[in-house]
Amino acid sequence: MLEITKVLKKNGYKVTPQRLAVFNVLKHNKKHPCVDSIYNELQPKFPTMSLATVYKSLEVFKTLGLVQELNIGEGSFRYDANTKPHPHVICLKCGKVDDIEYIDSLNLTDYAETKTGYKITGQQIYFYGYCPECKN
Ligand code: ZN
Ligand code: MN
Repeated sequence: MLEITKVLKKNGYKVTPQRLAVFNVLKHNKKHPCVDSIYNELQPKFPTMSLATVYKSLEVFKTLGLVQELNIGEGSFRYDANTKPHPHVICLKCGKVDDIEYIDSLNLTDYAETKTGYKITGQQIYFYGYCPECKN
């Protein structure tokens, strides 16, 4: 939490309880929430906070490299406080998004650079399928 306060201040952004709360939801949850579920989770504690505030906070965090945005298709975005490149698996039925932790993504980036001659600056890898609850 101190880290985010520092980064916001250093870049001239106000440190507001709402902004910290939005970041906190992402930091303490591996479910890769969308804007709406972040908003819903914060409603009881911040009843006056608008959906626009959640959007704007996420924009700021994205700009500062504090969160990564996952484009899971059909105009659907999820947010992840883990900004290191890592693959995700998405359930086509319930929309759950999980991390795949054991794949060494960095080696894949090296491979992509060697193979293409590009200077790779980022990667997003998605697997699709049905989660353990939905597959039956
Ligand atoms: Zn599912
Ligand atoms: Mn993730």
